Amino acid sequence: MTHRAAVIGAGPAGFYTTDQLLAAGWEVDLYDALPTPFGLVRSGVAPDHPKLKSVTRIYEKTAAKPGFRFFGGVALGRDVTREELLERYHALVYAVGTGDDNRLGIPGEDRPGSHSATEFVAWYNGHPDYAGHQFDLSGGRAVVIGNGNVAIDVARMLVLDPEELAPTDTADHAIDHFGRSTVDEVILLGRRGPAQAAFTNPEVRELGELLRADVVCDPRQVAEATEPETPTQQRNVEMFRDYAAREPEGKSHRIELRFLRSPVEILGEGEDGPVTGVRVSVNELVDGRAVPTGEEEIIECGLVLRSIGYRGRPLDGIPWNEKRGLIANEGGRVGTGEYCVGWIKRGPSGVIGTNKKDAADTVARILEDEAVGTLGTPSSPDPDEVAAWLAERVPDAVTWEGWQAIDAAEKAAGEPQGRPRVKLVTLEELKAAGRPTPAR
Ligand code: NAP
Repeated sequence: MTHRAAVIGAGPAGFYTTDQLLAAGWEVDLYDALPTPFGLVRSGVAPDHPKLKSVTRIYEKTAAKPGFRFFGGVALGRDVTREELLERYHALVYAVGTGDDNRLGIPGEDRPGSHSATEFVAWYNGHPDYAGHQFDLSGGRAVVIGNGNVAIDVARMLVLDPEELAPTDTADHAIDHFGRSTVDEVILLGRRGPAQAAFTNPEVRELGELLRADVVCDPRQVAEATEPETPTQQRNVEMFRDYAAREPEGKSHRIELRFLRSPVEILGEGEDGPVTGVRVSVNELVDGRAVPTGEEEIIECGLVLRSIGYRGRPLDGIPWNEKRGLIANEGGRVGTGEYCVGWIKRGPSGVIGTNKKDAADTVARILEDEAVGTLGTPSSPDPDEVAAWLAERVPDAVTWEGWQAIDAAEKAAGEPQGRPRVKLVTLEELKAAGRPTPAR
C-alpha cells in the first residue's frame, strides 16, 4: 500500500519535504492556511529581490509530479484537527514556519507607530491577513531595531525610489502608500557592534547602491569594531568601513547604521499615544555580549519597526519547546506519525536553500520509521475519501489548478505594467480567482 503524508505548510520547507517524499514513492497532500502556496517566498522575500523568488519554479516541478495534491485555504487547528489528519495519513509533517515575532519586552512597545517587521513585511507583500494594516509613513525618521536581513529589507523598502519599486510585485496598496511617504531617514539599530551584525554580504552591499539613499556609518564605531569571527562578518566590516569613509552624495534619503544601542523604551505622546522616539542605552561589548554602559540617548522618530527575529506559535496537542518557540522534536521526529521541518523545527535561521537539507533530515526519519514499521496507522487513508471529506469541510479550498488560475490572473495583470504580477490581496479575491477547483 502506498504511504500517504500530509505536509502542513507550503513554504520552502514544505515543498522540499513533499518533493523528497514523492521521490521515495509516497503520495503527498500539501496543505496551506492561505489559498496560495510558497510561504515566505511569496509573502516574506523582499519584492525587489525577484531572483530569490524564482525558486518557485522548482516547487512548480514538484507540484507536477504524480501523487501530489494541494489544498489551499485549509488551516490546521481552524478547519481540520491534528487527530482528524492522523486518522487519514501515515505521516503528518508540520512545516508551518514561525508566525510570531520576538518581543523586546520594553515600555511603549505597543504604541501606535511601533510595529513588528513581520507585520510590515507581510503588508507590503500583500499577505491577506495584513493587507488592511495601517502604517504612518508621514514622519521624517524611522528606527528599525535589529541587525538581521529582515531589518535590512524593511530599511531598504522604506527608502526605495518609486522607480526601483515600480517593476516589483509589491502590493499595490503599499506602492501607493510608499509613494506618499515622507520618511527620508532610517536608523538601523544594532545592540552589538559592526562585527556582530547578522546581515549577509549581498544585503549590506545593496545598501550602498540605492538610487536615492546615502548610507551612513560612524567611522569611530567601525574603527573600534572587534575582530570578526567569520568571513561574512569580515566582509561586512570592510563594507561598513567603506561606507564610513564615504562622503554622502547629498541624496534625498539616508540609511544610518548605528551600533551598540539597545532600545530601553519606545517614547510617545501620553501613556499610549503615537511614537515620538526611542530611548536607547549605549552598550559596550563584554565577552561578545551587549552590556549597557549607563549612558543613554533619545532618538526622535515617528515610526519604529522591531525586527529581532521570529518565534513559532504553539499548535494544539503538539509537543512544544516554550523556551525556543518551536515544536519539541528530535531531528524532525515529534511522535508516532508526526514530524516537523523548517523554521518550526530548527528556529528562524538560514536561507531558503537551508530547508532542502533540513527536509532531507526529516524525510530520513520518516523513511527509517517506514522501514521498521512505526509510522502512523490511519483508519481512513483513501485519497478520494480524504478529498470528499475536505470538500465538505472546506468547500472553497483551492487546488493546485486553482492556484495556477490565480497565478495566471496575477501575471496577466502585471504584464502591461512590466511587473511580474499584481498580487490579489484579499481572501475573497484569491478564492474567486482560484475557482472552479476541480478535484485532482
Ligand atoms: P536574525 O538574522 O536572527 O537577526 C535578528 C537580529 O535581531 C540580530 O541582529 C539580533 O542581535 C537582534 N536582536 C535579537 N534580540 C534583540 C533585542 N532584544 N534587542 C535588540 N536586538 C535584538 O533574524 P531575521 O533578520 O529575522 O532573519 C531571519 C532569517 O531569515 C535569517 O536567517 C536571515 O538571514 C533570513 N533572511 C534572509 C534574507 C536574504 O537572504 N536576503 C532576507 C530576510 C531574511 P544579536 O545578534 O545581538 O542577537
